[in-house]
Amino acid sequence: MNKEKKLYLKKNSAIHSSGLFAKYDIQSGDKIIEYVGEKLTKAKSDIIADVHIEANKKAGTNGAVYLFTLNKTHDINGKVPWNLAKYINHSCDPNCETDIVRGRIWISAIKDIKKGDELTYDYGYDMYSFEEHPCRCGSKNCLGYIVRSNLRWRVKKKLEEKKKKSF
Ligand SMILES: [Zn+2]
Repeated sequence: MNKEKKLYLKKNSAIHSSGLFAKYDIQSGDKIIEYVGEKLTKAKSDIIADVHIEANKKAGTNGAVYLFTLNKTHDINGKVPWNLAKYINHSCDPNCETDIVRGRIWISAIKDIKKGDELTYDYGYDMYSFEEHPCRCGSKNCLGYIVRSNLRWRVKKKLEEKKKKSF
């Protein structure tokens, strides 16, 4: 990968507000962008998350949280203007993944990506309050909610049970 060459550009997204898109063809395994931000202790990060959840409740919205787990002791708060990786949307069928390499978070391609395609990765949310995080990724296997892949079958089951009850 040419370090001088940015592989992405920011545009409006059909999934959610803004997204990042491949500026060139990208090969599987390419590092695309670093997820940067403020390094926080878990304690500080928990406070930010709580304040954020409360603010959302009051406003009746579910604005995104940009806290990213770095390791057992620290998180990265990506809500800073210089972090363009925060615009990457979640998908149930993503073409990127996050890699933590020596204390830095990278978004890398897990498939060959064509120029113009939107970049996505699995946000890795747990099931807790999944209904507050609808997914509009549009992929064939979209669950309808942002939940990490290994928990999706459990949410599916829950949704099916709910459906049955409503009949
Ligand atoms: Zn989806």
